[in-house]
Amino acid sequence: QTLNAILVEMDGFDTDASVILIAATNRPDILDPALLRPGRFDRQVVVDAPDVKGREAILKVHAREKKLSPDVELATLAKSTPFFSGADLENLMNEGALLAALNGQDAIYQKDLEEAREKVQWGREKRSRVLHEDEKKVSAYHETGHALVSKFTPRSHPLHKVTIIPRGMALGATQFIPEKDHNLMSKRRILDEITVLLAGRAAEEVFLDDITSGAQNDFERSTEFARMMVCKWGMSERLGPIAFGKKEEPVFLGRDLTQTRDYSEKTAIEIDTEVQDIIGAAFGRAKSLLQKHIEILHKMAETLLEKETLDGEDIDGILKQYDIEIEPEPARA
Ligand code: ZN
Repeated sequence: QTLNAILVEMDGFDTDASVILIAATNRPDILDPALLRPGRFDRQVVVDAPDVKGREAILKVHAREKKLSPDVELATLAKSTPFFSGADLENLMNEGALLAALNGQDAIYQKDLEEAREKVQWGREKRSRVLHEDEKKVSAYHETGHALVSKFTPRSHPLHKVTIIPRGMALGATQFIPEKDHNLMSKRRILDEITVLLAGRAAEEVFLDDITSGAQNDFERSTEFARMMVCKWGMSERLGPIAFGKKEEPVFLGRDLTQTRDYSEKTAIEIDTEVQDIIGAAFGRAKSLLQKHIEILHKMAETLLEKETLDGEDIDGILKQYDIEIEPEPARA
């Protein structure tokens, strides 16, 4: 009834009247089509998550009323917050102010904002959550696996830091800073990312005598990448540049991705095989990189166990001791 009342109102507007009606929704997929007819809400504007410039501008807005120390670089913060919404960024600035106040500071420092970012992204640090010694060790090797392999896969995202301090549900984390929002992903870049994702389990398998359930999210993400490569991005040599599965509507929040199969049982088997091959090759690559640099892995994991958090510089420092040459990321066209 409310909907009908709105429509009657909208249709009732004199076309000469200067009235613009704007509405917002997170679920455009379930709107009554009557709302979208010409003369009603006939124009749709998709507001995506802000890009790096947008994020910096949003941070500036929420920094206005706050006292920032001169060391604060909002541009750096913007770079390290891909996929943050405007509300997340506002939350980040408020959390940063709260941390500064709790520490009795008269200004907000960059470290407060970084801590706030992690809190918003991963949940609060749970220093009180006691990890068993062997859990800690597994976590240290797992995270070191991600970190170390990322150093030998030049197209993966640059390493930000690695930690075994539990946050939210995770026992540890290896965090990367995407240098910019990528709209295009190259095949080599995706393969590098898959390799880094699988390196946590690879490290467990190679260096501990057991494996754990801690790699669930890594597998979900790497498998999704591999499936997209084969089914959507035409990156499988065996199957060729073909899109498999019915074309999806633009992805909106809350929509379950349902795919209609438009290929044969034989192709389905080939797709599965190809996905398994991509994952298998990346896992093998991660494992052999770790075996090749076994000494560094032990050193890094031990240092991580001792210090609990290592940033990019700490890790480069360890690598330097071993005289390792890291291949720089190739320039992108
Ligand atoms: Zn992992």
